[in-house]
Amino acid sequence: MVQKGNIGVTTENIFPVIKKFLYSDHEIFLRELVSNAVDATQKLKTLASMGEFKSELGDLTIHISVNKDTITVSDRGIGLTDEEINKYINQIAFSGANDFLEKYKNDANAIIGHFGLGFYSAFMVAKKVEIVTKSYKEGAQAVKWTCDGNPEFTIENAEKEDRGTDIILYIDDDCKEFLEESRISSLLKKYCSFLPIPVAFGKKKEWKDGKQVETTEDNVINTTTPIWTRKPSELKDEDYKNFYRELYPMSDEPLFWIHLNVDYPFHLTGVLYFPKVKSNIELNKNKIQLYCNQVYVTDSVEGIVPDFLTLLHGVLDSPDIPLNVSRSYLQSDSNVKKISTYITKKVSDRLQSIFKNDRKQFEEKWNDLKIFINYGMLTQEDFYDRAKDFALFIDTDKKYYTFEEYKTLIKGEQTDKDGNLIYLYANNKDEQYSYIEAAKNKGYNVLLMDGQLDVAVVGMLEQKFDKVRFTRVDSDVVDNLIVKDNKSANTLQAEQQEVLAVMFKSQLPNIEKAEFHVTTQALGTTAFPVMITQSEYMRRMKEMANIQAGMGFYGEMPDMFNLVLNSDHKLIKEVLDVEEKACGESIATIRKEMEGINMQRDSLKKVQEGKKPEDISATEKEQLHELDGKLDDLKKQKDSLLVEQASQNKTVHQLIDLALLQNGMLKGESLNNFIKRSIDLIG
Ligand code: ADP
Repeated sequence: MVQKGNIGVTTENIFPVIKKFLYSDHEIFLRELVSNAVDATQKLKTLASMGEFKSELGDLTIHISVNKDTITVSDRGIGLTDEEINKYINQIAFSGANDFLEKYKNDANAIIGHFGLGFYSAFMVAKKVEIVTKSYKEGAQAVKWTCDGNPEFTIENAEKEDRGTDIILYIDDDCKEFLEESRISSLLKKYCSFLPIPVAFGKKKEWKDGKQVETTEDNVINTTTPIWTRKPSELKDEDYKNFYRELYPMSDEPLFWIHLNVDYPFHLTGVLYFPKVKSNIELNKNKIQLYCNQVYVTDSVEGIVPDFLTLLHGVLDSPDIPLNVSRSYLQSDSNVKKISTYITKKVSDRLQSIFKNDRKQFEEKWNDLKIFINYGMLTQEDFYDRAKDFALFIDTDKKYYTFEEYKTLIKGEQTDKDGNLIYLYANNKDEQYSYIEAAKNKGYNVLLMDGQLDVAVVGMLEQKFDKVRFTRVDSDVVDNLIVKDNKSANTLQAEQQEVLAVMFKSQLPNIEKAEFHVTTQALGTTAFPVMITQSEYMRRMKEMANIQAGMGFYGEMPDMFNLVLNSDHKLIKEVLDVEEKACGESIATIRKEMEGINMQRDSLKKVQEGKKPEDISATEKEQLHELDGKLDDLKKQKDSLLVEQASQNKTVHQLIDLALLQNGMLKGESLNNFIKRSIDLIG
């Protein structure tokens, strides 16, 4: 018997279409053919279990073999009769094909899924395909279907002893790469590692006399019952760890894992791992793998799991995720939404339970965990609502607190006069050491916020918490960090403050992109003589500018620092004394002169008061101008005396440099000068 016919497609020829449009994803032909073989085998097992197939099942291993020009996929499943070939292979439902192909031309999965074209994907790599098959049905006649890449096919009777199907692909000249053993091997690893029926690729090899030789044992490439298909109660920690190693051989041991298992209202199984990540690069390299009934589909799960969980590792398996559709469709699919909510809940439940049952372990791993939890809280409202109970703060003494615990801890000492709770934090324990110490001595607690996402977390928590402000320990002198009353302590007169400001400002080295404002405050005799602080507001604007687009303006601004002089400190007093002795008199004279001019100026102004500009005579204007000029000159004279004074005063230089040094801002020539001067001072 020989039949001839045309494959039932409404477009003229499906094959060029398959080749052309599915170009980039050629390799999935193997997944499709092996999955078909698995399906056929499972169908037979089902029939056997229902008593409809009564013979021996025997060895059900699926075999893949590569020869010179061909790849063969053989199974011992249900096989096909010629009628079934006609029905399932020859008739391809193909309506609106052109439109659809055009729309999804870059998405082979979508096309294959839409048309049930799994088998036809063989033509992506083959110029001719043969199906040699024999149905499991009693007395079935084996048949051979042949098609050489145009809509014509032939079916003829064939000789085949065993039930099941051989799919033989005659590989196209431009696809010869698929005839390489290593290529097939890696494709099988990628797509078929966890299929539920054993898949063998050739024979196992062993080393003999310095050579690799084939053994008689099948080289089975898959694990048929991967851990996500098993009951959590049967599994030990070691099993989870081994599986993780199998998926990501180069990675450190995971922190925690979550075994997912849902039957209703959708099917989902899987194991998700919290990885221990050393770098961002690693974070993106290993990905969650998505399976559909143990067939690997993809490792781009964006849209299926919430954004922050794409940072996790592991496996998800669901027949209910519509895999063969576009990404945008996925995001609006209601099953996908449910799955995403479910996973978020599962992940937070698991974290919550570890936190509750083994807080010590949770704290130990917090450092690695916090990137996930923080990212989750920042991007997903419902996750924040759950995570706020187990997310942790760590302070500069390495103690951990929940949000609630911390609030209770600092309420007494760190509430300001307006009832705001002030959270003090440092982002670098070493650089901000003296500020941290000062705050601690005052009875405050200082948090350590040195994570990648902490700038954003601080902003978020200020929004979430009521009447709470975060202030970095170095944003002001310790007395001003938490303002408890309105009194401002300053023991110096305005004139002395001015003298100090001019002297110190003039001696500050030029630091690129940094500007200083000099102020004096009475900080007590034990505090440092000079401190550098940076306003919380400006610093944060700049930090946000670095992580957010559209705030470039702030990023361009110089850093604004305050150089705070402690008027209680004896070295500052000494600077004033020395200045007073050296040029006090001259300064006083200049001041007097300035005062006189100011008085003249005032009276002149008084006369002009109420007059329209055009009524003021030219002489009057001239007089005023002259006085302003004189004042300017005197101020310059005064300042230059002070600058001269300051430039000779080693204490001023030393104090400035020490303050810069304390903030890691003393570099290059200035640092060198400082060292030389320090040595001189010792000598
Ligand atoms: P799908 O698997 O999505 O239905 P395919 O084009 O992959 O689409 O296969 C079409 C049909 O051909 C299958 O539904 C099955 O009935 C039959 N078939 C394919 N491969 C085999 C096989 N190895 N053994 C038995 N039947 C098969």
